[in-house]
Amino acid sequence: MSGVNALSAIAPRPTAVIIADQLREGIINGVFEPGEQINEAQVAGQLNVSRGPVREALHRLMQEGILIGRPNRGVFVRELTPDDVREVYEAREAIEIAAASILASRDHASRASVTAQLNEIISRMHKPADALDWSAIHRIDLEFHTTLVRETRNTRLVRAYATLATEALICMAHLADAHPDPDRVLSGHRELAVLIERGDLNALHHVLHQHLSLAEDELRPPANDLTRRKNRGPMLQKATSSEAASAPSQRNPAVLATSRG
Ligand SMILES: [Zn+2]
Repeated sequence: MSGVNALSAIAPRPTAVIIADQLREGIINGVFEPGEQINEAQVAGQLNVSRGPVREALHRLMQEGILIGRPNRGVFVRELTPDDVREVYEAREAIEIAAASILASRDHASRASVTAQLNEIISRMHKPADALDWSAIHRIDLEFHTTLVRETRNTRLVRAYATLATEALICMAHLADAHPDPDRVLSGHRELAVLIERGDLNALHHVLHQHLSLAEDELRPPANDLTRRKNRGPMLQKATSSEAASAPSQRNPAVLATSRG
């Protein structure tokens, strides 16, 4: 009986949040192309929900900056220009260097505890790196950096970094060769983890700058490279548990977009 008391309540998530999560995932995975229109009615039909929560979900994603609304035309997936991408990476570097300064000033036990967390994240990247599972690599890559910032326990820095996180994932997913070699990502992370424990701020600045700097040719706009689209994530799934509607892809092929992989 006592074990039951240890369980914590599961907060129900509003439908709009579930829809927003699925759309965000689809945009990050490339199921929706940059510049592609998101049709509210089609999404509602595909997910078997009313249009209200879909509208709310689209509104959330517009606030996050990954969708843009064009008057009288509709809602579109935001296209990131090379300047946008440069800004995201520059802003990430500024925040992470601030975070590194805070962490480096802590005592050794605190620094070692952050490094232990970072090493655990690094250990989870080996499998996707071997399989060249870029979607997982990018996610774990960002988890590493988010943890570094979160461990400062500076809520302002954490909040500022969170607003960049989705854009950063879109950059990683859509930029041609943003990280051409997973070993390079891994070795950069290993170096950063060691330097955090050592508290070597100068070296941290240097390695963070190198790790988050993109060469000019990596700042190309998203390419329609079919080979990069092989490992696409799951497409939109119904927000409800209803399995009554069969063959949804035939009803709303534009929403599913399965044929692009
Ligand atoms: Zn990284």
